[in-house]
Amino acid sequence: MTANGSATETQAHRDGISLEMEPAQKLACQWNRIRERLQAEVGEAEYRTWLRQMTLGTIDGDEVTVHLPTRFLRDWVRSHYGDRLNALWHGEDPVIRRVDIRVGRGLSTGGLAESLTPSPAPSKSAGTPVQPGGTRAEERMEARDSLSVTLEPRFTFQSFVVGKPNEFAHACARRVAERPASQGFNPLFLYGGVGLGKTHLMHAIGWELLGRRAKHPSALASVMYMSAERFMYRFIAAIRSQSTIEFKEQLRSVDVLMVDDLQFLIGKDNTQEEFFHTFNALVDAGKQIVVSADKSPSDLSGLEDRLRTRLGCGMVADLHATTFELRISILEAKAAAAAVNVAPKVLEFLAHRIASNVRELEGALNRLIAHANLFGREITIETTQEVLHDILRAHDRRITIEEIQRKVAEHWNIRLTDMTSSRRARAVARPRQVAMYLAKQLTSRSLPEIGRRFGNRDHTTVMHAVARVGELIGRDAAFAEQVELLRRMLEG
Ligand code: ADP
Ligand code: MG
Repeated sequence: MTANGSATETQAHRDGISLEMEPAQKLACQWNRIRERLQAEVGEAEYRTWLRQMTLGTIDGDEVTVHLPTRFLRDWVRSHYGDRLNALWHGEDPVIRRVDIRVGRGLSTGGLAESLTPSPAPSKSAGTPVQPGGTRAEERMEARDSLSVTLEPRFTFQSFVVGKPNEFAHACARRVAERPASQGFNPLFLYGGVGLGKTHLMHAIGWELLGRRAKHPSALASVMYMSAERFMYRFIAAIRSQSTIEFKEQLRSVDVLMVDDLQFLIGKDNTQEEFFHTFNALVDAGKQIVVSADKSPSDLSGLEDRLRTRLGCGMVADLHATTFELRISILEAKAAAAAVNVAPKVLEFLAHRIASNVRELEGALNRLIAHANLFGREITIETTQEVLHDILRAHDRRITIEEIQRKVAEHWNIRLTDMTSSRRARAVARPRQVAMYLAKQLTSRSLPEIGRRFGNRDHTTVMHAVARVGELIGRDAAFAEQVELLRRMLEG
């Protein structure tokens, strides 16, 4: 680093811990503020488990070192709080660009910081009534806090678009949110492929319950949501710190426990065992359990039989793969929520091309919107293809140009070779144009590439064909129907 404007400041940091009192104290204050912020952000319980033992090491140039006593803790903090630590340090001191998290013991500054630590940071849910005394009550508060910190504000029932593939799961989730632990709905087991809305529905249940509690504070329903992975790490941390009893009590004091992505517990026998006991204790006490996984209970081989059996005893609801109609509805809702006007044909294009999961569909739309905002340009099919080139390629459903040519030729009863021949009779020229149009829509081939595959035609010919077919679709309903039929057949 070169000596310039902020050289004194930088130098002070470089000399780090061996400084005279004043800068060291400043450093301690910064470190304190960062820890308080973290504590307020993650909640008391989580802070105590993972972050309390963190001590400040040295400052070297633009890098701060912090220490944790074990590799396990270091890895966990690195992967879960690393970015946040970087950002908080940078906020305190713009010179700092990186926080290096290591195994070891901090220098004296850590102790200094400790002695300056004020009373616990205010809890995030300062608005909710605090119940005095009783560790039980505190634990309940913690359980609430850890929930309110982790729920994603976007994942509510209001923002969940309901369609055929998810209406059953949605109805079950609603029901559980309205009347937790009612007969036949406990546990609620949601399953389905990636990105189909499992986590969204679970968070929506959480929000609904929190909302109700805000209106009727007396109906103390404490809700806890966590991923199965987090469940495992909390459990392990509890064993390490010899606080399994507290851990168990905390879990067993909630009214609704939601554990996401249960498949993660496959092969993790001790954690599974613990989950099984928690599960039984809660269900027996009339509390609600909601669980999600990527497969149905009976297909989750690798989970203990008795757990699988119990999981299947309540309501099992699957989220099916999305349909074109649902994808369109979701895109419309998201565009409306972002207050952006996207032409229906662009939405249709996206819904056709990105069919596998809603997360990617959403990501694609967000990227488009960001692009449109940035450049102030209208979103057309062309800009969409340009901006989403990589995503579209990845989603190319491997519909090949040959396949398109074959299907179209069969449909109009012409020879396959006519797709590449130079005959211009309308009876072959029109189907050929349709095939080019479909090739443009259903594959990510460029116009010149498509031209080459149709008997080495020029890209302008393809362009003309695409425009012409588009025009006919708008004018001639019977023709439009045939093209649509072909498209459906090709998409399988
Ligand atoms: P899963 O947990 O099943 O992998 P998520 O719940 O994380 O999937 O959903 C992935 C993304 O898709 C989220 O941003 C979610 O909001 C969105 N999403 C999924 N289904 C819907 C839906 N029916 N309506 C609105 N958004 C949805
Ligand atoms: Mg999920």
